[in-house]
Amino acid sequence: MPCTEESEHWNYDNPSEWPKYFSAASGLSQSPIDININESISQSYPPFVFSSKYYSDELFKLTNNGHQVAVTLADRTYGQSDKDLWFTGGGIEGTFFFVNFHLHWGRNDRHGSEHQINGYRFPAEAHVVFKNPATGQLAVFAFLFTITNDPSGENLEWKKYTDVSSQLKNANDTMQCMFNLSRLMQVNERSFIRYMGSLTTPPCSEGVIWTIFTNTIPINEDSVNQLRQNLMRKVYRPVQPLNNRPIFRSY
Ligand SMILES: [Zn+2]
Repeated sequence: MPCTEESEHWNYDNPSEWPKYFSAASGLSQSPIDININESISQSYPPFVFSSKYYSDELFKLTNNGHQVAVTLADRTYGQSDKDLWFTGGGIEGTFFFVNFHLHWGRNDRHGSEHQINGYRFPAEAHVVFKNPATGQLAVFAFLFTITNDPSGENLEWKKYTDVSSQLKNANDTMQCMFNLSRLMQVNERSFIRYMGSLTTPPCSEGVIWTIFTNTIPINEDSVNQLRQNLMRKVYRPVQPLNNRPIFRSY
């Protein structure tokens, strides 16, 4: 999750220091977590429903915010509006509007994801953030990545993200690019994990509805290396205590 005004007071070298400046970070419902599938509760959920712009190519703006590269819809002068990108369903009450998407990664392929599944860390993890303006509640979709060495096997939307992001070497650098959210998100399989957690960046506010899709997205190692070499080496928060929260699975 990107941060805004607090950017000076934290970094990824010392996440254990975050609670000194952001009290929510020491709460009992923090994210990310290690998900033990065997201890999750099977539940059936209605399908997600997305607005039509989810399926079309739209113009977005990538911004190096000093901690990561966050992607928002481009300026409204292009005839777009955050109000055009939304979802309902999936067992979540209300209509949630697109806020941003971004990627987390690590120094090498053994690290990078924020969430872990059965103790396993993935090389990268994407977050697509939505907000219900009526309640202020946030819902985040998370996607885990696996490395492919087959160039044709790579997800091309994420290759665009890594290609453009690696040019944004300084904080506040921006660039625009077309993305297709349905190809970027790959929600076609409905196997996901659901739990209540927090933002994974300061202020680490709780009450966030997490949906973690268990079908991974393929990415080329060169693409992740571009980010490691040109931007930040490491962009993830370590797992936090579960504290007896229930974890649900949709299958
Ligand atoms: Zn995030």
